[in-house]
Amino acid sequence: MPDSSQTPAATALLNLDHEIKTASEERLRALLLSICNEIPEAHKKAVKELFVDSSIVKNVPGQIAGTKRPVSRYERCGNCKEEFDVTENSKTSCRYHPGYAFPDEELFADHDEPLEILDSDDYRKSYPENFIFDCCDGNLMDDIGCEVDWHRSLETADISKRTRLDMLKEYDDQSSSEYESE
Ligand SMILES: [Zn+2]
Ligand SMILES: [Zn+2]
Repeated sequence: MPDSSQTPAATALLNLDHEIKTASEERLRALLLSICNEIPEAHKKAVKELFVDSSIVKNVPGQIAGTKRPVSRYERCGNCKEEFDVTENSKTSCRYHPGYAFPDEELFADHDEPLEILDSDDYRKSYPENFIFDCCDGNLMDDIGCEVDWHRSLETADISKRTRLDMLKEYDDQSSSEYESE
C-alpha cells in the first residue's frame, strides 16, 4: 500500500491544472499552436471553435457583409473593447461611451498635478469616480455605457474616428474658453 493518498496520475493532473491557470498568455498561445500543429484532431477542434461560415454571421448595419469563406468567430469590439461572438451579435449587445472620460478639475481640487498628468491610466485606476465622460456626465466608477448598439469591428467603431489627440485638443479648447458642461 503506497503511503501517498494521491496516485501519480492524479498529481500530474492537479499540477497541470495549476500550470495552465498560472502560465503566461504568451506561453499558452505558443503551447496551443504547437499542440494544433502536432495533433490533427486538436487542429480540427481549434478550427471548429475559432471560425464560422460567414452565412451565420449577424449583419451589422453599416458594416460590409463578409464573403463566403469562413471568418473569425470572435472579434474585439472597437466600442466596448470586449471580445464578442459574431454569430450572437444584436442591436442591444453593446453598451459603451462614445465620448472620452476627462479628469474633473473640481473633483481633483486636492491634487497639485496638472490635468495632463492626471489624465493617465494610473489615475484612472486609482480615482475612477473623478473621471467624467463628455458624452453623458457619467464617471468611470459606474461605467455603464450610455450608448446601446451592435458590437462593431474596429473599422466601423465610433471612437476609432476620434483619436485621443482630437479629444485632448477639444479638451484644451473647452478649458481655455470657460468650461461649459451644459
Ligand atoms: Zn457616455
Ligand atoms: Zn461592443
